[in-house]
Amino acid sequence: MKHADVVIAGGGLVGLPLGLALAQGGLKVVVADAAPVAKVLDPKFDGRVSALAYASVRMLTALGVWDELGPHAQPSRQILVTDGKPGQPVSPFSMHFDAAEVGAEALGHIAENRHTRMALHAAVERCANLELLAPAKVKSVAMETGGAVVTLANGEQIRCALAIAADGRDSPLRAEAGIGVIGWSYPQTGIVATVEHEKPHNGVAYEHFLPSGPFAILPMTGNRSSLVWTEAKTKAPSLLALDEARFNEELARRFGGHLGKTKAAGPRWSYPLSFHLARDFVRPRLALAGDSAHGIHPIAGQGLNLGLKDAAALAEVLLDAARLGQDIGSLDTLKRYERWRRFDSFTLAASTDALNRLFSNDIVPLRHLRDLGLGLVDAIGPARRFFMRHAGGDIGKLPKLMKGEAA
Ligand SMILES: Cc1cc2nc3c(=O)[nH]c(=O)nc-3n(C[C@H](O)[C@H](O)[C@H](O)COP(=O)(O)OP(=O)(O)OC[C@H]3O[C@@H](n4cnc5c(N)ncnc54)[C@H](O)[C@@H]3O)c2cc1C
Repeated sequence: MKHADVVIAGGGLVGLPLGLALAQGGLKVVVADAAPVAKVLDPKFDGRVSALAYASVRMLTALGVWDELGPHAQPSRQILVTDGKPGQPVSPFSMHFDAAEVGAEALGHIAENRHTRMALHAAVERCANLELLAPAKVKSVAMETGGAVVTLANGEQIRCALAIAADGRDSPLRAEAGIGVIGWSYPQTGIVATVEHEKPHNGVAYEHFLPSGPFAILPMTGNRSSLVWTEAKTKAPSLLALDEARFNEELARRFGGHLGKTKAAGPRWSYPLSFHLARDFVRPRLALAGDSAHGIHPIAGQGLNLGLKDAAALAEVLLDAARLGQDIGSLDTLKRYERWRRFDSFTLAASTDALNRLFSNDIVPLRHLRDLGLGLVDAIGPARRFFMRHAGGDIGKLPKLMKGEAA
């Protein structure tokens, strides 16, 4: 039987950085992912881009991933938040964040998920203590005295001190451990597409609130932006099925003319949107990280940032315990991680849910209230700077990796 200190089920955007952090800290790590590497690196696999907060960028730099990813990422220098209706001028109240106001070069970076995956896989290849098994589906985890045995679908077994579930929203390991979730589906679908435009975006990200949900325009390299268009679940299939010309017309009605002529390029993608929070993040010999622990609305582009914070905090707790000769899989050790991360995850999950409810409607008194809120935050410097620090992930107790230090 193979042996490792830690086995991570799921080599996605959270599992791989976590594996790198643990292995670079001296632990022997195996990451098993159900999908073949060639499939997840294929441009057709995932049309999403992620807004990486600057704390996440510092973490990826500390892990040696950013050198490869940085040249493909677009700095986001400003964020403009507006409210309106399709085809109508935006409300006069808006919120404007500018990196220059907090003395930063950027509020974060926008990176295509496939580029992030490529940079992570390159770093994994350079990492001696980390073995990536893919395709390798984790079938079950059996808890034993002093350790756990992870069984893969091909029958291979790995004995370890700790198993980590970074296996996404539907987390099979979370279900196997009997950890329940609080959660619901949103009556919304996330439509994702790359849009080419005539004029340069100058690094400005737009969050335009429409009655069916937020319409986010994230600047990409070149004269391109990525669209995360939240639409009513009932309406999304017909929009997705439109021919190119009609889809571009619908796009232009919501985009406005500030970037000149716009045209969707490449495929359209759609993602069901839901909320969930695991009732527990740990069990003896098991920890949850990333979407396995929580799934939030993409309204604030924070799901992955939250998962990276889990990875950084969990790596720090485990490496500290290992250096002190403590058992990394004991409930005592793992509870330190849960105390650190659960409240922060709950707060962010609840606030993104509330924001989505407040903005995704056309109820007149609520429109006035939220427009007033946007105008107020915009007018009050400290409030504006607080939200900017939030968007940058620079809030709460930051793990060392998110300060740019080794874990
Ligand atoms: C439309 C949309 C836009 C978004 N935009 C942003 C954004 O701008 N910024 C941001 O921070 N976040 C964003 N997010 C959220 C972000 O995409 C997720 O939070 C993030 O991808 C979660 O990563 P993960 O590694 O936890 O899970 P996943 O990416 O789901 O990875 C799970 C991995 O586990 C593997 N797996 C599953 N079961 C098994 C098994 N039994 N054995 C082995 N492997 C297994 C899968 O193959 C997969 O590779 C967005 C989400 C959506 C839907």
